[in-house]
Amino acid sequence: MTYDPLISQRVSPSLPSPNTYWHATHNCVTPPALSQNCKTEYLIIGGGYTGLSAAITLAEAGEQVVLIDANKLGFGCAGRNGGFVLSGSGRLSLSAIEEKWGLSTAKAMQAEYEGAVSLLTSRIQHYAMRVDYTEGPYYKLAHTPKQAKTLQAAALHQQNQFNVPSTAFNKEDIQQRFSINNVYGGVRVDGACLHPLKLADEYARIARSLDASLYFNTPALSIDKKANGYAVNTPNGEIKAKHILIASNAYTPKRFENIVDKKQFPVQSSIFVTAPLSEQLRSATGLNSPMSFMDTRMMKYYYRVLSDGRLLFGGRGAVAGKNGDNLKEKNRLYQAMIKSFPALNGTKMEYFWSGWVSVSLDDLPRIFVDGDDNHKMGYAMGYCGSGVSFAAHAGMRLAQRMLNTGNIDLSLPLFQTPLPTYPFSSFRRMALHGLYQWAKIAER
Ligand SMILES: Cc1cc2nc3c(=O)[nH]c(=O)nc-3n(C[C@H](O)[C@H](O)[C@H](O)COP(=O)(O)OP(=O)(O)OC[C@H]3O[C@@H](n4cnc5c(N)ncnc54)[C@H](O)[C@@H]3O)c2cc1C
Repeated sequence: MTYDPLISQRVSPSLPSPNTYWHATHNCVTPPALSQNCKTEYLIIGGGYTGLSAAITLAEAGEQVVLIDANKLGFGCAGRNGGFVLSGSGRLSLSAIEEKWGLSTAKAMQAEYEGAVSLLTSRIQHYAMRVDYTEGPYYKLAHTPKQAKTLQAAALHQQNQFNVPSTAFNKEDIQQRFSINNVYGGVRVDGACLHPLKLADEYARIARSLDASLYFNTPALSIDKKANGYAVNTPNGEIKAKHILIASNAYTPKRFENIVDKKQFPVQSSIFVTAPLSEQLRSATGLNSPMSFMDTRMMKYYYRVLSDGRLLFGGRGAVAGKNGDNLKEKNRLYQAMIKSFPALNGTKMEYFWSGWVSVSLDDLPRIFVDGDDNHKMGYAMGYCGSGVSFAAHAGMRLAQRMLNTGNIDLSLPLFQTPLPTYPFSSFRRMALHGLYQWAKIAER
């Protein structure tokens, strides 16, 4: 049984955990389910990075907070992602933001994105979090000669305007380093990766230690507006809350709550992890130390070398949830790997899974709050495939917006407006299918 946010009415606690490499290498402690009615100042719905980070910020401020999640810890993206720590979110580059809103807004947005990475590293230090955080080069690879020029011009612009250092490589340099096919140039920047499920587990540990009440296997079934707040119905108890923070992101069920309905498009991304590569393969391919990669395709492939010598390889998933783990999808992704690295043909695929990323209509995430001092409701979502660092920052910002703290520049595009509503939302999947067909031909 697969969860499909555009079809399912709820995330059921009985849905199985995904078969990920992360679940196989870390046992996390899922907090208990709610078993009675309760009352709180702040209720967070969704216990991934966004929700747990919001809980940490509220609890650090001494506020009373309850967090509920419909399934086990790491059921959503928090247990399914690739673990790349990226500076940025959504699908707009700093240059695209600059073009749309001007340089000073782009710089302020850069500060938010870099702030997300700093928040992660400072929490790792401050709370002694054990998340296998590993620094290593991050290569952006061009899949056509034209993209190589665009990529290198963009890197130069980022270096000059945004002070992001990078090193450019031509086709021959890259091919010599990695024995990789169909790459026409690249750019290397500083990168880092981590174990995503350990990150969720550590955030939960911190939130609990700060006296936040966490309940998992506890779906919010309905939200009713009351005179002084909200009543949220769960299978084993009602929660009365003054303010609600929605942190269910791409896993938000169909018609869950007006404020987030049709505001994002859940799109599947899939990942497989190979058996450990032999020494011979590692030296033949150059995939011999922790490093990460992303290409320039519209339907990007991303991959990283894990500390035990396996390759994690990801890309777009199936259109419909029910096809997420099909053999066809596994083969498509595997063929993409061997097209780039022919030497890896025959390497065993040991894990495969899919997850939902939240795509906003204008490619930009939002952290938005509505209401007055008596009852506020807010959400943070729409990060596309970039949320390992940003989701926690967004959760912190959402909590700060609730508290009116944090000196947030509310004129920034991240905060100023709600997520735009998808028009013709029932046709989203059809359009995505068309896009994938086009990309299959255009981005061979
Ligand atoms: C395959 C894949 C690879 C990715 N790789 C990367 C990467 O390498 N780097 C990167 O930066 N980002 C990556 N991402 C994106 C990143 O993982 C997400 O942006 C981020 O984890 C989102 O965190 P979140 O807390 O907002 O959502 P989630 O972690 O998805 O949490 C949402 C939670 O809400 C709960 N929920 C839903 N409805 C209800 C309800 N009614 N009641 C209670 N709870 C509910 C769900 O059970 C779920 O646990 C990837 C995503 C996927 C799917």
